[in-house]
Amino acid sequence: MSDELRLRDECYMQLALEQAELAAQVGEVPVGAVLVQGDEVIASAFNRPIAEHDPTAHAEIQVLRQAGQSQQNYRLCDTTLYVTLEPCVMCVGAILHARIGRLVYAAAEPKMGAVDSAFSLLRDERHFHRMQVASGVLEAPSRELIQSFFRQRRDAKKAEKSS
Ligand SMILES: [Zn+2]
Repeated sequence: MSDELRLRDECYMQLALEQAELAAQVGEVPVGAVLVQGDEVIASAFNRPIAEHDPTAHAEIQVLRQAGQSQQNYRLCDTTLYVTLEPCVMCVGAILHARIGRLVYAAAEPKMGAVDSAFSLLRDERHFHRMQVASGVLEAPSRELIQSFFRQRRDAKKAEKSS
């Protein structure tokens, strides 16, 4: 990867990470996403299934919805999606439907990740849509944000039980 592309990826992933922090602040699993077209962020969102009472309210789905509305087009071919955690099966499906040009994620998700970890849906030969994928961009802060979120939640539960 060129230095220029790496810097660009880190810059946009930082914005996704800021979205993830907003999720943590309201008690949602901290995952954030931004969708970039050219040099413009056209959508940004964080994970909020609890607040929305919506199991599909993952960060990725929300940026696709926002961008579809603003572009008045459900195809988002020339965009790059930045997300702080490896997308799940549902989100990979939505990403394929949207024909996203490039996907960049930060941390791997061993249990649910559907790009490289639990499943490798994007590597499936049967897809007619080929997408560029990069991973590990700002991996450490993204992973740390999620781990500290679950650590705090565990500690809070323990405190509840012992009080
Ligand atoms: Zn998802």
